[in-house]
Amino acid sequence: MRDHAVSPSIRLTNVAKTFGSVRAVDGISLDIADGEFFSMLGPSGSGKTTVLRIIAGFEQPTTGRIELAGTDVTAMPPFRRDVNTVFQDYALFPHMSVLENVEYGLRVKKVAKAERRSRATEALATVRLDAHGDRRPSQLSGGQRQRVALARALVNRPKVLLLDEPLGALDLKLRREMQIELKEIQREVGITFVFVTHDQEEALTMSDRIAVFNEGRIQQVATPRELYESPTSAFVAGFVGTSNLLSGAAARTVIGREGMFSIRPEKIHLTDVPDGASTAAGTIRDVVYLGSANHYVVDLDAPPDASGASPTLTVLRQNLNDDGVSRRGDRIQLAWLPEHVIELQPPTEESA
Ligand code: ATP
Repeated sequence: MRDHAVSPSIRLTNVAKTFGSVRAVDGISLDIADGEFFSMLGPSGSGKTTVLRIIAGFEQPTTGRIELAGTDVTAMPPFRRDVNTVFQDYALFPHMSVLENVEYGLRVKKVAKAERRSRATEALATVRLDAHGDRRPSQLSGGQRQRVALARALVNRPKVLLLDEPLGALDLKLRREMQIELKEIQREVGITFVFVTHDQEEALTMSDRIAVFNEGRIQQVATPRELYESPTSAFVAGFVGTSNLLSGAAARTVIGREGMFSIRPEKIHLTDVPDGASTAAGTIRDVVYLGSANHYVVDLDAPPDASGASPTLTVLRQNLNDDGVSRRGDRIQLAWLPEHVIELQPPTEESA
């Protein structure tokens, strides 16, 4: 038997799931540590939700094994797992008050009334809704309703909380606020959060680590900084940030060697050439105004890349209102430091 003190909160070993001919999850192995804020990020249909449902027990894997805190739960029904799920559609009971909604799960479990009340009040305080316990869900905003859903899960004091695009229904501003708040709440309660999203910025903002999914497989698991600064594949470089890929003859000309490379837009200089920098000449194809910054899309004077496309780099530059240099059609020199060139693994034949 494994020592529980060192067991990860969640361990997946070679988990796969097929629905008919669809291979939704294609052999995933993963450890998630106790108290970690872990995100599963990927495009629609990449298998994130299926993995979450397998951890919750709503879905049986076709093959593979799931452990929670060192115990094999693969064959265990959902209600016996020490796990709670928060969905995007909050599914609150409209005829009950907020407090009653939060208490409901404890009532089903026959927890005594006084304890129910005190735990529900505490959970509402955790999500900063203690003043709204008497309201009906219809009297709350979308963000507040989402917090009630969170309180309803927290009241059970699970070891693991699974969140499936919980902020998906909120508008952008509220979503940003809730991202910060959710991260604070997770720190406060200290339980493991597994968070599914297709929004890269959301994953970068909130997570201790992120798994990037594509076509049922994990492409890379890393901290937000590692994922952004050192993506290992073109897919990850493109899904987390702007990829700025150079390959084939373009790479040979611009980088000076064979391979597939990426340079992040903010690492490229437009008007100055730092000591030791590499340079490339090009023509500004487009200037995209972003408010606090501009994106300059530059066609390089270089032969086509491995896919036959003419090489282009996007440069991010703070909007200093000094942009005499930088209009569409202007000739320009780009510069970057060699350490900011990211070397990517070439795509395998299978994933190409
Ligand atoms: P999204 O962000 O759109 O929710 P996802 O990354 O969570 O996508 P999944 O929902 O896990 O992806 O789906 C992975 C694949 O499995 C998709 O091709 C999907 O159509 C398929 N799939 C998921 N559930 C079922 C099911 N119950 N029956 C048949 N196919 C399914």
